[in-house]
Amino acid sequence: MRRLALLCTAALLAVVVCMSATAQAAAAWPTVRQNDRGPNVQTVQYLVSAHGFATTADGIFGPNTATQVKAFQTSKGLTADGIVGPLTWGQLAITVQEGSTGDAVRGAQVQLAKHGYAVAVDGQYGTGTADAVRDFEGKHALPVNGVVEADTWRELTGNSGGNHSLPIPRASAPRSEYDDPHHDYPAIDLQVPTGTDVFAVTGGSAFPIGGTTSSCGLGVQVDGSDGAEYRYCHLSARAMSGRITVAAGAKLGDSGNTGNSTGPHLHLQIRFGGALRCPQAMLLAIYDGASVPTPGQLATSGCSN
Ligand SMILES: [Zn+2]
Repeated sequence: MRRLALLCTAALLAVVVCMSATAQAAAAWPTVRQNDRGPNVQTVQYLVSAHGFATTADGIFGPNTATQVKAFQTSKGLTADGIVGPLTWGQLAITVQEGSTGDAVRGAQVQLAKHGYAVAVDGQYGTGTADAVRDFEGKHALPVNGVVEADTWRELTGNSGGNHSLPIPRASAPRSEYDDPHHDYPAIDLQVPTGTDVFAVTGGSAFPIGGTTSSCGLGVQVDGSDGAEYRYCHLSARAMSGRITVAAGAKLGDSGNTGNSTGPHLHLQIRFGGALRCPQAMLLAIYDGASVPTPGQLATSGCSN
């Protein structure tokens, strides 16, 4: 009886592992709607523009974007609700590949940047973009052909594995920066020059914290959709003045040296379940394109001197 129970447990584990592997391989299209912000909004704006419905690609889903999305939906015989769900994504996604140019390429490049690739959003699908796409495809169980077709678009924009971003541009720091211990308590300091873009690691509700006289300096807190509280400190400027909803990869501000700081750097700390967590394992997984641990899986000690 005991032996049978163990066997069942093993079988159950295999099924669970199998299911999670399948879920990771096929991300779902995200739902993007009015008042959303971030790279998925920008991609929608670029793709709607590429279909002839010119929209400013500012990453903010305002009334003008909604109007253009509805016009696009009408042109495709879709329900004109202004909400970009699976059916609308299916019509929006334009296959782009080496040699392609224009807004659809920019839409893909925004996604590659969100996933940490050092790709310029210039609308030119050159070898750099193709290399990044191939690397992404290889890490997400997609055919490695360097072509952004529907499956690649869905994986790039989707919520499974696509809902994390490095907190700074990939080119701003080497991998070795992300495993450094913090000086006293669980957190991480990333040494970057003042003015470096600071991005939301996960989506959630973002709002200003601190101030020039506080130890955090000019800070931003994101109450993450994963239940954790993320704090970004010592900024030189914040991207919001009140509470806004952000997606992973949305710009939160510019790094700096404000507050209790002895040199330009970004301080990031994650609080979950009433304790500060070590961000290092999460950031390294994002950097590597590996499966990202949940906040609850992060250690509460071992990452400080
Ligand atoms: Zn620090």
